[in-house]
Amino acid sequence: MRIEHQCPRCGAPVILEETDRLLTCGFCKTKLCMQPRDYFRYCFIPSDPFLEEVIYVPYWRFRGVHYTCKTSGIANGIIDRTFLAVKSEHFTQTLGLRPQTLKLRFVQPADNARFIPPSIPFEKSFVQAKHDVTYDIVTVHETRFVRRGTQGDYAEIPVTRKELKEERIYHEAFVADTMSLIYTPTFVRNGRFHDAILNEALFEGPPVLESFPYEVFSGDWAVDFLPTLCPECGWNTLAERDSCVLLCNTCNSAWETGGQGLKRVGFTTALSTKAAEGSVRQYLPFWRLKVEVKGLKLDCYADVVRLGNLPRVIQPGWEEPPLFFWTPAFRITPAVYRRMSKQFTIANFSGEFDDRLPSAPIQSINLTAQDALDSLTTIIADLTINKRKVLPLLPGIKITLREALLVFFPVTETDHEYIQPDIKCSFLKNALEQGKNI
Ligand SMILES: [Zn+2]
Ligand SMILES: [Zn+2]
Repeated sequence: MRIEHQCPRCGAPVILEETDRLLTCGFCKTKLCMQPRDYFRYCFIPSDPFLEEVIYVPYWRFRGVHYTCKTSGIANGIIDRTFLAVKSEHFTQTLGLRPQTLKLRFVQPADNARFIPPSIPFEKSFVQAKHDVTYDIVTVHETRFVRRGTQGDYAEIPVTRKELKEERIYHEAFVADTMSLIYTPTFVRNGRFHDAILNEALFEGPPVLESFPYEVFSGDWAVDFLPTLCPECGWNTLAERDSCVLLCNTCNSAWETGGQGLKRVGFTTALSTKAAEGSVRQYLPFWRLKVEVKGLKLDCYADVVRLGNLPRVIQPGWEEPPLFFWTPAFRITPAVYRRMSKQFTIANFSGEFDDRLPSAPIQSINLTAQDALDSLTTIIADLTINKRKVLPLLPGIKITLREALLVFFPVTETDHEYIQPDIKCSFLKNALEQGKNI
């Protein structure tokens, strides 16, 4: 999704991606942090700019990574959906490919614009799988051995039979998800709604005069553009267009952008004993979460060893809390995200830390601590060896966040891979490229 906007400082046109959190003007070099009051509201632009009155029809848009823990295993996918936010059989129920093919802009005040308010509240249940349990009929191929007579040879007889297979969903999670409202423009002519992009009647048959309530642009819908200067020392912070944490090299601080204004966030830099000198050109950010788990005995590292039946002799200190979970703080493909979270959590890094920002560049921090928390139940399922026993317990698991710390890990690289030698974890560079578009 691409959003057209004008630089709030100089008015130059800026094209934004849906995942952008910063607006950078190529003309005046201004860098601003974008914050909606609740969620972003976009609209398509009518093809006729001189319409007397435009009526905007609302659609919810949801995009995110979807994890499911079910009988047959743990699955992940990307969900990207729009659905009509008002009850009506006449408007199309989704926006189809429009968000991918047409440019959008933030909703702005206009004299000729009226908005139909969304009457269906957004709930993630729209996006979730409809059924907790599904039954599939599967064909099972077997071979039966039959003896000819009492002394005869055994003969192999192939048989097929139908079996009912139960598929139960124990847990579902959405991570790195964004919810927004997209308005599509229409106008009414001869009592009928017309699509203001294609300029044609929206539905066949007799004119439909549905009485929708209308509202006009509200100040609360506006996006706030905040300066990206460090609140502590006033210097420019370091951040990329999709970053949710800004870093200040001048006074050594990190700032979260969510909510209102900038909020300080704790960080540390892991020191490598395995990376060869001069081989580190980049750092990767991770969230280290200290949590409390209810519904499953999981409050120290020894519990992780037992849960995963890891080939390790339990050390005395491992029976003591706290337990840390580690997850990437950067967007990456879901399968690699799960594997890295598992590897880093199992590694239980006990090396040294430095409380200064590293001197080499850090990969953009574009997943929040909340995103990390949302993924934890799936990570626990991934760590579990006895899935049959633990998966049914997942709906009863409650996780409370006690502390979130950003930890920067040095990585070395080959032509195709990034490698963290202390954790012995590597992944393909293109997983990072693909992950940026999620
Ligand atoms: Zn500008
Ligand atoms: Zn500063």
